Amino acid sequence: MGQPAQLRCPKCSAIYTPDLPRNLCDCGAPLLVDYDLAALKAGGFAPAALAGRAPDMWRYWEVLPVRERANVVSLGEGFTPIVPLPVLGAEVGLPHLQMKDEGLNPTGTFKSRGAAVGVSKAKELGLRQVAMPTAGNAGGAWAAYCARAGIGFTVVMPDDTPAINMLEAHITGGSVYLVRGLISDAGRIVGRGVVRHGWFDASTLKEPYRIEGKKTMGYEIAEQFGWDVPDAVLYPAGGGVGLIGMWKAFDELEALGWIGARRPKLIAVQAEGCAPLVQAFAGGQAESVFWDGAATVASGLRVPKALGDFLVLRAIAETDGYAIAASDRALLDAMDRLARVEGAFICPEGAACFAVLPELVRRGVLRSADRVLVLNTGTGLKYPQAVRAPEFPVLDPDGEIL
Ligand SMILES: *Cc1c(COP(=O)(O)O)cnc(C)c1O
Ligand SMILES: [Zn+2]
Repeated sequence: MGQPAQLRCPKCSAIYTPDLPRNLCDCGAPLLVDYDLAALKAGGFAPAALAGRAPDMWRYWEVLPVRERANVVSLGEGFTPIVPLPVLGAEVGLPHLQMKDEGLNPTGTFKSRGAAVGVSKAKELGLRQVAMPTAGNAGGAWAAYCARAGIGFTVVMPDDTPAINMLEAHITGGSVYLVRGLISDAGRIVGRGVVRHGWFDASTLKEPYRIEGKKTMGYEIAEQFGWDVPDAVLYPAGGGVGLIGMWKAFDELEALGWIGARRPKLIAVQAEGCAPLVQAFAGGQAESVFWDGAATVASGLRVPKALGDFLVLRAIAETDGYAIAASDRALLDAMDRLARVEGAFICPEGAACFAVLPELVRRGVLRSADRVLVLNTGTGLKYPQAVRAPEFPVLDPDGEIL
């Protein structure tokens, strides 16, 4: 059984039931889902239990928050491959470099993990109308899973959001609105709809369950490393949900006795045009400051102030991790380079992680013996505008110049 025990506030420790719709804690902080891990362990829940289960993220059913199987809304997300990158690894002095490729998920990004659990739980709680602001891939993912669940979905996007994100939300039945403004304006408009139309606000970290979907990346990493963990995991952080999720997963796995106390360094990577977490990390602050004028081609990283910033910074501190930013130019160069030498066409967000590898080696954060895992959060196929292409030669039908 998926058996969430309670929702808990990581800031003020308030407790809520997971069996009623809930957004934030009364204190304004995002909520985390607790499970009775001691009971699961005592009941014999061990890695052997996974043998024979389908290779998707629902194989970790006991530590997911949906109570009834019938409520699971799935497109087969999760259990993405880990790919060695020997050529790029040698170039940057990290021979054990690997990539977990989230671009193979339904909807082309790891947003499908959060949406699958978020929408499944929304279905279980009887929600009929869900809404959110987005400037990127979340809208398309939630639209797809809401379509499958028969739940109405409204999304509000800045009008400079990449066209593919509008189109994928539209074709899967979402009501798409564009706002001449920022993601924060879109968020305020959704907030009005919540009051006027009774929509459920599924904004990032305003609902407790997408973290549970994204934490499955941590479970998969441990399983794929033979119930061990790499030395470092690089994650392109916007709101930082995946990083918080992996941190939570490793703690849960230790409580279950499936891994030891060692943790990978969790390294948050941002774009120089929007790097509030990096700034807070460098200044030793526990929370970030709103980043004015956020701008980067890596649209998933354009989050000027994350609700869960204090959790990201805590996860980095507790794992001896790091935070660092890449320029747009450097991340586009890294995107080119990875495609050219490894054949992997990744998203600009993931490419930001590859861009900072040489600097992390220079600063001594990463060493050549380290097993370094980069999370590529999406496929490059969703970002045709990020490919710097030349004028291709146009041939006559007889192809004379060849
Ligand atoms: C949303 C997104 C991110 C950032 O995810 P957070 O959970 O907000 O940190 C990174 N990459 C891609 C492709 C995304 O869509
Ligand atoms: Zn609280």
